[in-house]
Amino acid sequence: MLSTAYLLLDVDGVLIPFPTADGTEPSTHHRHDVVPSGHSSDSTVPIWLSPAHGPMLMNVFRTGLVAPVWCTSWRQDATTLLGPLLDLPALPHVDLPRPQITTSHPNGYLWKRDHVDAWLGDAPAAWIDDDFTDLDHDWAARRTADGRPTLLVQPEPHTGLLAEHLLSVVGWAAGLSGDRGEYVAA
Ligand SMILES: [Mg+2]
Repeated sequence: MLSTAYLLLDVDGVLIPFPTADGTEPSTHHRHDVVPSGHSSDSTVPIWLSPAHGPMLMNVFRTGLVAPVWCTSWRQDATTLLGPLLDLPALPHVDLPRPQITTSHPNGYLWKRDHVDAWLGDAPAAWIDDDFTDLDHDWAARRTADGRPTLLVQPEPHTGLLAEHLLSVVGWAAGLSGDRGEYVAA
């Protein structure tokens, strides 16, 4: 019997889209000015969030098919700063280290992956991140073949999270549990 699958959630490029070359953000997203932990209170950071994402994610959480966890360089700030802006409950987060790296793929694969691999143990996981490489997809395939089902979902970072991404997570998790769940796409 598999344990409940985790749903690992990235933020940048998923909930906060990358700006386009001309610096614009999608009209679907609203600007918020936040003060990340460690910043002085007068050094706000502008971020763009879609008000649709809160209800979309809540629809997934309510299925009970996955256990959501932040997996982002925002770390605890995802729980304390960003979640409330989307009316999300306080979710746990993977306590990622702060490596001195200049690329997100220092060894050819996503820098978070070794920490996630250790954190997950043998648990099944769906992981939404915009920044996987082929080596990450190989890792997911190996994990799945070893009896630890692993789904990587990779939004386009300038667009971010779409309903279809969450549908694929729910479909995958329902297949694991043999339960189709109750899911209504927002
Ligand atoms: Mg990202």
